[in-house]
Amino acid sequence: MIVDFHSHIFPDKIAGKTIELLSEKGGIPPFSDGTVDGLVEKMNEAGVDVSVTLPVLTSPSQFDSVNRFALEVNLRFADKKKRLISFAGIHPECEDIDGKMEFIKKSGFLGVKVHPDYQGTFIDDPGYVRIMEAARDNDLIVVTHSGVDCGFRGLPVRCTPDRALNLIRRVPHRKLVLAHLGANEMYGEVLDKLCDEDVYFDTAYILRFVGKEMFEKILAKHGEDKILFATDSPWSSVKGDVEILKSFSLAKETEEKIFSGNARRLLGL
Ligand SMILES: [Zn+2]
Repeated sequence: MIVDFHSHIFPDKIAGKTIELLSEKGGIPPFSDGTVDGLVEKMNEAGVDVSVTLPVLTSPSQFDSVNRFALEVNLRFADKKKRLISFAGIHPECEDIDGKMEFIKKSGFLGVKVHPDYQGTFIDDPGYVRIMEAARDNDLIVVTHSGVDCGFRGLPVRCTPDRALNLIRRVPHRKLVLAHLGANEMYGEVLDKLCDEDVYFDTAYILRFVGKEMFEKILAKHGEDKILFATDSPWSSVKGDVEILKSFSLAKETEEKIFSGNARRLLGL
């Protein structure tokens, strides 16, 4: 079984335009059309069973519309196979974060996605601290973008390993996922500061760039129980990323944990 823990989809009506804009901003060509059907097609090509889709609120006012679409996705895929599982989006400037996180839990979501660069503040800012506290209290997973974002090159990184540590120290919560192997393009700091912490890393986007040697270093230090296979589709190829992880020739049991075992445990599948 393969679970992709980090992908993105958009409503059919806006997918084309949104993908075009984001692609231009980040300088990354898309590997799918960003629709629900487009993602499922890529999953089928790659042999991926389940994909966790992560919506990002770029402003607090998007809370209702973005999460309405996320709920529709969960309803559509509520059958036994659960091919897509959408998390909810939340923004650190949302009013009544506690109430919103309770609503998210009651609506059946398993977690939330945050993105400090797109949300204009740092991961250890008070808004995220409140989101983390509410996530801990409601037993929700939190996935955050971490490290350099290609769309914000040259600007201060909003989720560095140091700031992620501040958040972890402030609100210990075993269901935090730092995307992009702890921090995109900051692997030295990940090794020094984040490995050993009780936090998950996903492999979204980085598999084409990280190299087997660095991947194995981080895996050895952080442990095979806290790494989740993920692609960041449409910003990476689902099939290509499955093949790259397989090409690392990890021990079978390790590979199984990264491809699905850890994700199934975290998601309760
Ligand atoms: Zn992403």
